[in-house]
Amino acid sequence: MKRTLKLTLMICLSALAMACAPKEPVKYLALSFDDGPNLTTESKMLDVLAKHKVPATFFVIGKNITDESAENMKRAIKQGCEIGNHSFTHPMMTTMDEAQVKEEIESTSALIEKITGKRPTLFRPPYINVKPEMYDWIDLTFICGKGCQDWEATVGKEFRREGIIANAEPGAIYLLHDFEGNEATVEALDEAIPVLKEQGYVFVTVSELFKKLKCTPDGHTMYTVVPDGRYN
Ligand SMILES: [Zn+2]
Repeated sequence: MKRTLKLTLMICLSALAMACAPKEPVKYLALSFDDGPNLTTESKMLDVLAKHKVPATFFVIGKNITDESAENMKRAIKQGCEIGNHSFTHPMMTTMDEAQVKEEIESTSALIEKITGKRPTLFRPPYINVKPEMYDWIDLTFICGKGCQDWEATVGKEFRREGIIANAEPGAIYLLHDFEGNEATVEALDEAIPVLKEQGYVFVTVSELFKKLKCTPDGHTMYTVVPDGRYN
């Protein structure tokens, strides 16, 4: 009886100690991919995300959306991913006027809404080419992110993988590419995701990242790390 009491007391005390220990904040990361949709590299990227059970955000180009490629946008949504706006023709927007910029955004958002049933809330400017007026013209949250030169064909899988791992920090958004033929990023992520999970990181979509970190996006900031912005 005495022994049982002692044991019960020990269990209670350790439960209390666990409850009182300061909780480590969860470390969140958001993967994002530009230049889809397509039925080649993007399909492989979706396979890798499904394999590791992580979501991501896909910034799509309006002119790349066809009846066929739209299937991957629907698949992405089914996998818990999010679709963002990456313009219709991928232009240098600093050379455009208000009407031209708004047309690029609206035509793409309308297509995304038609296919997914959800209007996008995020925008990645093509080439991260931005002028101040664009923040007033475009009613979406501007997202940049941490890259690893993964648009360069000469940059290999190892460099991309190490760059992805080195760029991890709580609240970080990754800016990567899933355009046709960019398989090295798919392979790099397949190896990097388990390493980052092992380090305690949890993957969420960009919108969830703002929610989890209780950050209301400010309409004049381009975000690379949530909540403090820090554009590169
Ligand atoms: Zn792009």
